[in-house]
Amino acid sequence: MRMPAAQPGRTGTIEKVVPAFEPGDFALEVLSRQTRRSTVQLKEAPVVVSGGAGIGSAEDFALLRDLANLLGGEVGASRAAVDAGMIGREHQVGQTGTTVRPALYIACGISGAIQHRAGMEESAKIVAINWDKEAPIFGVAHYGIVGDLNQVIPMMVKAIKERPKE
Ligand SMILES: Cc1cc2nc3c(=O)[nH]c(=O)nc-3n(C[C@H](O)[C@H](O)[C@H](O)COP(=O)(O)OP(=O)(O)OC[C@H]3O[C@@H](n4cnc5c(N)ncnc54)[C@H](O)[C@@H]3O)c2cc1C
Repeated sequence: MRMPAAQPGRTGTIEKVVPAFEPGDFALEVLSRQTRRSTVQLKEAPVVVSGGAGIGSAEDFALLRDLANLLGGEVGASRAAVDAGMIGREHQVGQTGTTVRPALYIACGISGAIQHRAGMEESAKIVAINWDKEAPIFGVAHYGIVGDLNQVIPMMVKAIKERPKE
């Protein structure tokens, strides 16, 4: 989260609240905790290439991995792609996933639902690829590509591979 500017004139009172819980207040009981180290570093990645329901299948996510690897980034996903079993939940970006703010966010086959935008719309540069020119994702994108991602992404990969070395 971006830190808000301090407002020196503001005052307030601090109230100490000591909650008194009864055993019956809890709907859940924690029996044990299991932690698993995440293999995806979405928050730290300078580039996130995310795929949505438009990707189509788990195998087709390989296309996004190629692009992300070339750009030194990570692969993200919409909840629809996660729920469809195309990719693991640790890749989910959005309200119930990870909030990211990379230098470059590439949204592929993602409609741009409010819950997804909440997790990525403050990225420095957003590129959206969608074959529906009315898709809401174009409302937050700095660059929009209206087209079939199965054609556009291989073209991007080819262009990056062929660009002259600096
Ligand atoms: C409480 C709650 C929390 C939620 N939390 C999240 C969250 O954290 N993250 C999140 O992402 N969602 C979240 N959602 C779900 C969210 O509302 C949307 O359902 C979801 O983001 C849609 O995912 P999508 O854009 O991949 O799928 P869709 O909305 O189905 O969009 C697919 C897009 O792909 C395009 N497309 C299809 N094929 C191609 C192609 N070949 N080439 C180019 N474009 C193509 C289509 O035009 C379409 O725009 C949440 C919902 C609720 C109710």
